[in-house]
Amino acid sequence: RGKQAQQDMLFYSPEMNQRSMARLKLSSELHHALERNELQLFYQAQFDCHTKQIVGAEALIRWQHPVRGVVSPAEFIPFAEETGLILPIGEWVLLQAAKQLSEWDEAEFYLPRLSINLSARQFKNNLPEQLCHLLSHLQLHPSRIELELTESILMQNDEATIGLLTRLKAAGFSLALDDFGTGYSNLSYLQRFPLDYLKIDQSFIRGLPSDHGSAGLVHAICAIARSLNLRLIAEGVENAAQLTFLQQIDCDQMQGYLLSKPLPSGEFAKLLARKAEI
Ligand code: C2E
Ligand code: CA
Ligand code: CA
Ligand code: CA
Repeated sequence: RGKQAQQDMLFYSPEMNQRSMARLKLSSELHHALERNELQLFYQAQFDCHTKQIVGAEALIRWQHPVRGVVSPAEFIPFAEETGLILPIGEWVLLQAAKQLSEWDEAEFYLPRLSINLSARQFKNNLPEQLCHLLSHLQLHPSRIELELTESILMQNDEATIGLLTRLKAAGFSLALDDFGTGYSNLSYLQRFPLDYLKIDQSFIRGLPSDHGSAGLVHAICAIARSLNLRLIAEGVENAAQLTFLQQIDCDQMQGYLLSKPLPSGEFAKLLARKAEI
């Protein structure tokens, strides 16, 4: 105890105290954000690169803070992961996304597939059962849901992870590896996990088509995907030249501001309705 007090003294600074107070405040606000309905999902359409038909959408969380306005998930998701708040938030996301998909079904705005981002902490042993239970309640087949995983999830305990992924796959879920190329880049795991999609991180798309480094890396990622029989989704596609490049290398699907930004559910439904008319 004496030692701890000594350490506290050593590390104490008014600045740090301010920072931990700010964290405490954020933590309590985020806790309340759920019950106060301040969290919202936006939906970004995913398109077939060649036909430009909508093939799916990614659910992206937003926090409408009463004072600060819209807080980006890049700001609060890492914090929620550290504090464990990601568990109730992640459950809310799953429920909200599935309910939304089922509502669109009922309204006959048919969306083939909805992608959901999962944090490592959510990747628990009972996840397949929990998800299947939720979906059967809403009469949705698991094939309508794509789970976006990060390399950090795949780097967790190997056997257990393979087991979980195999069960999710067997239940019919589609599995995508998000932000591919930005993490551990240990390629040997790619063939051991039953993945369906690789998502090329937007940092590789940004420099296309003129930047040789980016172009080379995207070519290489494409070759990896092909040889392992994985489909490719490019994210962060902002201009026509990038899309042309992706079409030329035969990338399967894309999302990005060029064709649609993330939209609140009402606006996304209008986009679906418009596309259905064409
Ligand atoms: P991510 O999964 O890599 O999502 C892609 C990010 O790129 C999103 O940022 C999206 O709005 C943005 N984006 C889409 N198209 C373009 C484009 O053409 N140009 C540019 N510059 N950006 C584009 P967002 O919505 O701010 O989300 C940030 C990150 O927060 C996500 O990155 C994801 O890691 C995390 N996140 C979002 N929603 C959830 C969630 O429900 N659960 C979890 N665990 N994480 C989430
Ligand atoms: Ca994602
Ligand atoms: Ca991503
Ligand atoms: Ca990202």
